[in-house]
Amino acid sequence: MSATLRRQDVPPQPGPPCEVIRCGPGPGIRCQILSNAVWGCWTHWDGHRSRECLGEASDCAGHANGWPTRWKGYVSIWCAMRRSVVLLELTPASAGEIIRQAGCDKSLRGLLLRLDRHGSSIRAKIAVELSASVADNTNLPAAMDPEPILRKLWGWKVKD
Ligand SMILES: [Zn+2]
Repeated sequence: MSATLRRQDVPPQPGPPCEVIRCGPGPGIRCQILSNAVWGCWTHWDGHRSRECLGEASDCAGHANGWPTRWKGYVSIWCAMRRSVVLLELTPASAGEIIRQAGCDKSLRGLLLRLDRHGSSIRAKIAVELSASVADNTNLPAAMDPEPILRKLWGWKVKD
């Protein structure tokens, strides 16, 4: 008598979905922005990973330990290559360039964004190109809220 096969018709996923991407060396990023505006926050670098900053006046472990601070910007995007909604992490310079090109009081939602890193260094300049979409954008997916994703990713305490 043969045992029952362990069957599954849905292919196994290679890993957890990559919810946060950044512009690295190699192929650039081509996407459509879903957020109305850049969402930014300060973080600390503890030598291994990013940690939350609660501000100098609060009980901030990063401030108490003197860990360097870094500003990170995020926009929610539709990534055609991944066919999914993800968060795009932005450097201060590339976030500033997106805001400058869009016009500081204009919504970013629906705009097409190209990011290309020139060189392999993490300090290499990122070229930003924003353009209007000619497609009908009324049925774009909803933007993601960055905060719960970042809190989960960085092991932050989740707010009650
Ligand atoms: Zn802090």
